[in-house]
Amino acid sequence: MNLDYSAIKEKFPFDCLLNVSAKKFTSYKIGGLIDFLAYPESEDDFKNLIAYCHNEKLPITILGQTTNVLISDKGLRGIVVSTDKLNKIEIFDNIATVSAGVLWDDFIGLTVKKGLGGLEKTSGIPGSVGGAVFMNAGAFGQEVFDSLISFKVMNVFGEVSVFKKSDVKYFYRKVEGLDKLIILSAEFLLKKTDKEELLNTREDILRQRDKKQPLDYPSAGSVFKRPKNDYASRLIDSCGLKGLRIGDAEVSKKHAGFIINKGNATAKDVFELINKIRDEVEKKTQVRLELEQILMGEF
Ligand SMILES: Cc1cc2nc3c(=O)[nH]c(=O)nc-3n(C[C@H](O)[C@H](O)[C@H](O)COP(=O)(O)OP(=O)(O)OC[C@H]3O[C@@H](n4cnc5c(N)ncnc54)[C@H](O)[C@@H]3O)c2cc1C
Repeated sequence: MNLDYSAIKEKFPFDCLLNVSAKKFTSYKIGGLIDFLAYPESEDDFKNLIAYCHNEKLPITILGQTTNVLISDKGLRGIVVSTDKLNKIEIFDNIATVSAGVLWDDFIGLTVKKGLGGLEKTSGIPGSVGGAVFMNAGAFGQEVFDSLISFKVMNVFGEVSVFKKSDVKYFYRKVEGLDKLIILSAEFLLKKTDKEELLNTREDILRQRDKKQPLDYPSAGSVFKRPKNDYASRLIDSCGLKGLRIGDAEVSKKHAGFIINKGNATAKDVFELINKIRDEVEKKTQVRLELEQILMGEF
């Protein structure tokens, strides 16, 4: 695709960066050049950009905080849009309305401080509110959709609508029907709860995450979804795969469900390691692990 990205950049008043290395900012610290990375600051900015892309037939990729994606070494073509600049939080009584770009854990930290419960066990999940809704992120038995009332989306024509929770089918780390929609904000119903209790739960969970997860290395969290009645990390560990390495990509010795970047891992290293883990685990346990992380670009 030979596009004049500089000319496209001139059409918009918000930040648009050209030729950004994904390696510099993704959670995995991996990935090739992103031709065009836009940071719209309002719904109107999104509307103008999306409508332009639709008219010009340009492909769009949405990024939150990149904590669940693996971007190809060949990078991404077309228009890549970050929700980073959408960051408003409004809390009235026990209802919170939160823009897509707010960091999930900032939101949870605030609700806990206000004595509002229902999502405190998701403390420490990195990423944005938009990413958390898209993935139905969760931990320790709580997930985003437990407390979700509704969310606002924009379609490829730049039209905005509100989806109630009952309008979509949601499952473990998967929500159906969101293809080609941009989540702009979400509304949550929380429960008034004893603040000390919430603060203790949050602290305990952050401690457990720190103890169990390889947070000192770049990663994108759990690589695979939990198989039925089991844990991907337990299966991987039982196959003796902890520490298995391709290039600088390694199955974490601390948590076998994570692949970590030990320095200069490429997307190809991670991709090959993913395939190797899947094949080995299937050979030894007859379980084919399903990918949780999202591959973006050419593999
Ligand atoms: C150390 C670590 C620990 C983690 N622990 C957990 C955990 O306990 N539980 C858990 O569920 N996950 C966990 N994750 C994975 C990840 O944090 C979550 O999936 C998170 O919700 C992803 O949010 P994000 O903003 O980074 O999304 P991204 O990685 O940027 O995007 C993920 C997907 O969502 C789409 N998307 C993002 N924002 C929008 C939007 N506004 N509109 C439409 N689509 C959008 C993207 O296109 C992409 O397909 C962990 C990750 C790391 C690195």
